[in-house]
Amino acid sequence: MKKEYFEKKFKSLTGRIYFDHSIKKLNWFNIGGNTEIYYKPDTLQDLIEFLKLSKDINNFFVLGAGSNVLFKDDLFEGIIIKLNKNFSRISLLNQDTIVAGSAVLDKTLSEFAKENSLSGFEFLSCIPGTIGGGIRMNSGCFGREFKDILVSVQAIKKSGEILTIPSEDIDFGYRNCNLPKDLIFLSATFKGKKGNKEKIEKEIIDLKTKKDQAQPTRVKTGGSTFKNPTEQSTKKVWEIIKDSVSKDIQFGDATISEKHSNFFVNKGNASYKDMKRLIDYVKKNVKKKSGINLDLEIVLVE
Ligand SMILES: Cc1cc2nc3c(=O)[nH]c(=O)nc-3n(C[C@H](O)[C@H](O)[C@H](O)COP(=O)(O)OP(=O)(O)OC[C@H]3O[C@@H](n4cnc5c(N)ncnc54)[C@H](O)[C@@H]3O)c2cc1C
Repeated sequence: MKKEYFEKKFKSLTGRIYFDHSIKKLNWFNIGGNTEIYYKPDTLQDLIEFLKLSKDINNFFVLGAGSNVLFKDDLFEGIIIKLNKNFSRISLLNQDTIVAGSAVLDKTLSEFAKENSLSGFEFLSCIPGTIGGGIRMNSGCFGREFKDILVSVQAIKKSGEILTIPSEDIDFGYRNCNLPKDLIFLSATFKGKKGNKEKIEKEIIDLKTKKDQAQPTRVKTGGSTFKNPTEQSTKKVWEIIKDSVSKDIQFGDATISEKHSNFFVNKGNASYKDMKRLIDYVKKNVKKKSGINLDLEIVLVE
């Protein structure tokens, strides 16, 4: 019934639209039910048209590469938007400045910067997300974060208003930023430093090697589950979890990675319920053992 209503409502739309679409393949955990509406605009014009038509639907979620999100098993009652084609462009604005669409992968930006002998982007080769997700999460590793290279963000409000937000107007924290949740990031401008291509390449290889040694690869995971509790402990969260919980703990197919205690893994067919039980179990036992309150880094999509 609702599907027929949506089909009629969005009939005139360009860009790909799907109804009652599975979320499972859209995220790294491979977990989740269906979404009422899944929309992939190719152009900004498509997106503006879609936002006009969907004014009455308030629940919407913008998805990047899905590398930091955990979806529920039930129907997502609303819209999932994933930016497509025209949002994957990348260009050199001048000697040290790059503009990248928000659907560009972090590693593509890192590679592009290297090809143009720009340093400062090396750490991005280790993060499996997109520019949009990286800005929202202020993602980072090896002491560098998005905020260190960001000049400005171009975004659109649900009302259709487009704005450019300078980086200095954004309050970035540890794996978060204060930009309103209803903003859809369209593209971003970054600044690097002119450097030596061979040196940049070596730095990328070194960082990737370090990362591969410490964290699991080619598994269904959302990366770091919890944030490091920097104000409560000098220990890293993986150490705290390792000291508090047995690595063998398992709920359905939801497990803790052998290689990194803060990476939770879907070994096969884990559901949201399994993964959430594991998250709650670890949180509770860490609190009991160490008194530390862990905060989630992964985004739970309601
Ligand atoms: C194996 C693995 C390793 C990881 N290593 C790291 C690491 O070293 N450092 C680190 O910080 N993270 C790491 N992560 C987590 C994750 O990769 C980052 O948080 C990444 O930046 C998320 O980007 P994404 O495109 O996948 O975003 P998603 O997971 O799709 O979404 C994350 C958030 O960003 C929002 N978002 C996405 N795109 C947009 C947009 N265009 N406009 C507005 N909001 C948007 C979503 O709504 C959501 O709130 C890792 C994850 C995995 C699976």
